[in-house]
Amino acid sequence: MEVDVKNRKGGEFLIKSTDYQDVFTPEQYDDEQKMMASMCKDFLDSDILPHLDAIDRQEEGLMEKLLNKAGELGLLSASLPEKYEGFGKDFTTSLLITEMMGAGHSFAVALAAHTGIGMLPILYFGNDAQKDKYLPKLGSGVLKASYCLTEPGSGSDALAAKTKAVLTPDGLSYVLNGQKMWITNAGFADVFIVFAKIDGEHFTGFIVEKGTAGMSLGNEEHKMGIKGSSTRQVFFSDCKIPKENVLGEIGKGHLIAFNILNIGRIKLAAAALGASKQTSTIAIKYAKERIQFKMPIANFGAIQHKLAEQAIRIYAVESALYRAGADIHQKEEQLRGMGKTNEEALLGAASDYAIECAILKVAGSEVLDYVADEGVQILGGYGYSADYPMDRAYRDSRINRIFEGTNEINRMLILDMFLKRALKGELDLMSPAMAIQKELMSVPESKDLGIGIFAQEKEVLVQLKKSILMTAGFAAQKFMLTLSHEQEILMNLSDMIIDVYVAESTLLRTEKLISLKGEKEGNIQVEISKVYLNDAIDRIYLAGKNAITSMTEGDEQKMLLLGLKRFTKSTSINTKESRRKIAKKLIEADKYIF
Ligand SMILES: Cc1cc2nc3c(=O)[nH]c(=O)nc-3n(C[C@H](O)[C@H](O)[C@H](O)COP(=O)(O)OP(=O)(O)OC[C@H]3O[C@@H](n4cnc5c(N)ncnc54)[C@H](O)[C@@H]3O)c2cc1C
Repeated sequence: MEVDVKNRKGGEFLIKSTDYQDVFTPEQYDDEQKMMASMCKDFLDSDILPHLDAIDRQEEGLMEKLLNKAGELGLLSASLPEKYEGFGKDFTTSLLITEMMGAGHSFAVALAAHTGIGMLPILYFGNDAQKDKYLPKLGSGVLKASYCLTEPGSGSDALAAKTKAVLTPDGLSYVLNGQKMWITNAGFADVFIVFAKIDGEHFTGFIVEKGTAGMSLGNEEHKMGIKGSSTRQVFFSDCKIPKENVLGEIGKGHLIAFNILNIGRIKLAAAALGASKQTSTIAIKYAKERIQFKMPIANFGAIQHKLAEQAIRIYAVESALYRAGADIHQKEEQLRGMGKTNEEALLGAASDYAIECAILKVAGSEVLDYVADEGVQILGGYGYSADYPMDRAYRDSRINRIFEGTNEINRMLILDMFLKRALKGELDLMSPAMAIQKELMSVPESKDLGIGIFAQEKEVLVQLKKSILMTAGFAAQKFMLTLSHEQEILMNLSDMIIDVYVAESTLLRTEKLISLKGEKEGNIQVEISKVYLNDAIDRIYLAGKNAITSMTEGDEQKMLLLGLKRFTKSTSINTKESRRKIAKKLIEADKYIF
């Protein structure tokens, strides 16, 4: 995979422009990645999709059987190092596998929990004995994993957990007492990653094996969606485990919990992308078949608008996903080159790109919700019928905005991480923010646009970034350490940041696509990119206006609003015509194709 990293840093997109040659796009998958994707698709079509009803009924032993089959195909061990009998695939390939399997509804959730939050804590934080003991069997599917962080009283505030661990007088074991809530795969898992506070204080990870005396499970939760995914409470009552099962360092459990979440978040976006593509295809096929007023509903402009908008958002989030994924991969290689172990390298890379991971978690889950919601609308009454596939798509999509950190928590994290990096001197937000303040006092100059297909759009992006730096800079100066209490403003700012990152990624992908395949091949993607940016500009303006008006008055407000107008100025385009062209392509192809 040829991407020149040039020492890039996570979060830097806000203050720097990126060249299209430096991003990776799905058009660059190599033959092996394409083969993996096609194997996943075959598995999905033959073993998962025909059995969705049985999976949702939680038919005895079915989920375990399917996970075993995934293990045989190498899907559980794709990103495990060869040392642990894995395939040692790169991060982009593991995102691609997650995307492909993301269309598998409850199975996708079980798979992601097993290979992600269940298995990765051992890979990244386990000692050699723990890795040797568990990883090969988790990779083959002989053992299944789950992750127990949440409790009835602590969800978003995970560190407020009450589950307690106490060392036995002989110093050989820990005794766990407490209760975990909403644990995916709990019904059949063999290995439970459990977080508890030693002596009620030191937050620590533990490995607990199924069948350990003192551990018991609650009943299956009755959920709105992902009904086939096992979700139970897990109880610990004087549950004694050997002290060798402490995972990582005592008192450093938060490092496991939060680092694993970075990877979990970007992977959630990948799974949501796979589900979005499948849902869009169902909507396209239905719109062509359904006749009303003597013609297919796909002929109607209102429906074409929806089909096109689904595709625009999917293409956009896919562009951002694989851009960030490859950036993480490159950073990982760089860290490995600096002498870090494989595990340290991926963790370090994901932590460097934690802002992008949080952006993708929010963007991916919200695109899927949009696509599923409009999918129901396109199917009309049949969209509301439990006998049609859109019902499951709609119910199963909703969880993604809740787990792996709710979207509110992730939005706040985006800002929090930017500000912390600026304070530590890791990201220079100050100099560009000061330059923007100066620029605001001066008369706007007309600029020479660069050359290239998106010369004008790229200049718009430069200005949009200024609108964010201006608004965020003002908020940081005004509230200083109390900015974290101004959550509405933080939400506005993170919405602006998410849109800028996704819009930029979309333009860069299309530029790359054209450089690889020529203008003709990319003409619809040009329309997609322009419509996304066009609408993002309005959303950014609105979010900026809401932030500014909620923290200023009088002349100060006037000045900032003028600045916002100046930095969000653009030439409007005929989005109706663009969407019609996009919809026509989708209808001709009879599926999502971009
Ligand atoms: C189906 C399912 C599977 C799950 N699987 C697992 C699993 O395998 N392992 C595991 O450990 N957990 C799991 N979870 C738990 C999940 O991660 C939590 O539900 C999630 O983190 C939210 O916690 P909560 O439900 O307690 O909501 P709360 O934290 O109570 O949040 C409720 C609302 O308040 C908002 N909120 C909370 N704090 C703040 C704040 N500071 N500022 C602003 N708004 C705030 C939230 O965004 C949300 O909208 C699962 C949950 C579900 C439903």
